[in-house]
Amino acid sequence: MPQTLTAIDQRPDNRGHYAGFGGRYVPETLMQTLIDLESEYRAVAEDRGFQAELQALFSEYAGRPTPLTRVRRYESSLPGNHRIYLKREDLLHTGAHKLNNSLGQGLLAKRLGKKRIIAETGAGQHGVATATACALLGLECIVYMGAEDMERQKLNVFRMRLMGAKVETVTSGTATLKDATNEAMRDWMANCDDTHYIIGSCVGPHPFPMMVRDFQSVIGIEARRQILEAEGRLPDHLVACVGGGSNSLGLFHPFYDDDTVRFWGVEAEGEGLASGLHAAAVNGGSVGVFHGSMSYVLQNEDGQITPAHSISAGLDYPGIGPEHSFYASTGRAEYVPITDREALDGLQQISRLEGLIPALETAHAMAQVSKMAAELPPEQLILVCFSGRGDKDVFSLQEHISFDGEK
Ligand SMILES: *Cc1c(COP(=O)(O)O)cnc(C)c1O
Repeated sequence: MPQTLTAIDQRPDNRGHYAGFGGRYVPETLMQTLIDLESEYRAVAEDRGFQAELQALFSEYAGRPTPLTRVRRYESSLPGNHRIYLKREDLLHTGAHKLNNSLGQGLLAKRLGKKRIIAETGAGQHGVATATACALLGLECIVYMGAEDMERQKLNVFRMRLMGAKVETVTSGTATLKDATNEAMRDWMANCDDTHYIIGSCVGPHPFPMMVRDFQSVIGIEARRQILEAEGRLPDHLVACVGGGSNSLGLFHPFYDDDTVRFWGVEAEGEGLASGLHAAAVNGGSVGVFHGSMSYVLQNEDGQITPAHSISAGLDYPGIGPEHSFYASTGRAEYVPITDREALDGLQQISRLEGLIPALETAHAMAQVSKMAAELPPEQLILVCFSGRGDKDVFSLQEHISFDGEK
């Protein structure tokens, strides 16, 4: 069993490449900041004091370890007689896995002596997790958010402000996540001496994809131990939804060397690949540069990033992390698309059968499990990352789901 986050393996290489993906595609002014960040990160990853402090925050503040739940009624509703377990990141403080990363990077920023934190957010979940970590650790917090997203996610804007964060409205471009990302990068370039940028997924220039993966690997380290306790063997399949790719890599990474365990990354297919309205970077994108690294992205023929679409704001990102691109190119993981409609059905199925309302992002993973149940050989052991709870989505769900003829 790996005991530290870095013991698992040492990928990427020293320049942040995952066999050609990744890297640091940033302006010269940020290069030194990234190099310093990497060396400081490599130091704390080996530092027992830092790791102990982080583990204490995980257990005493955030609620780790999260349980592994077997879902028997859901199993019975599907063909194949499979055994299905959910890794319950919905039970983590703030309702999703994102806090693992914000706490890790917040603590790292303190080590770096940086008291000002910036972050970008789309749906507001990463903004809320970062505002939470900053309140706890006594750090100043500025969150960039598109005007369009602020309108759609008023409750999360209010939550961030309650915890003392400043929410900066971004009106450029489409006024959504990719524009907020650009603004945050611009701020960082101007203020990198006293500011740390907490990126919210396994994306961005090296060392972010590696760092976020390591902080989220607590999911897979716990899940591996828990499934061995419960079943006495490793799972046959791991399933997780993929936005930038942090809950999925957090689950997959500690199982990387377990060759019998298959990985399924579930992409948001929106209204269908053919419609062009989707967020499936592997299935419907191509290799390009976005957000400081080389990876699969949604782009037009000129290399301009094209807007993503998904019913779930957390999957509505026009790229995917470089380590996922590497997994896709080597076949270590399979990437499968799930539409908005399938996700809505998946959400209702698990809610009714188990009393667990997933986030819309998570519902994509559940829909994939329902879909693959009939195609797999019987009696497989399946472990799903239940990345977040659905409370944040109930308002927008009312537009799509009605009961007994009610609108
Ligand atoms: C943000 C989010 C995701 C997508 O982000 P990843 O980095 O791909 O994990 C998935 N599920 C939930 C609940 C989220 O909030």
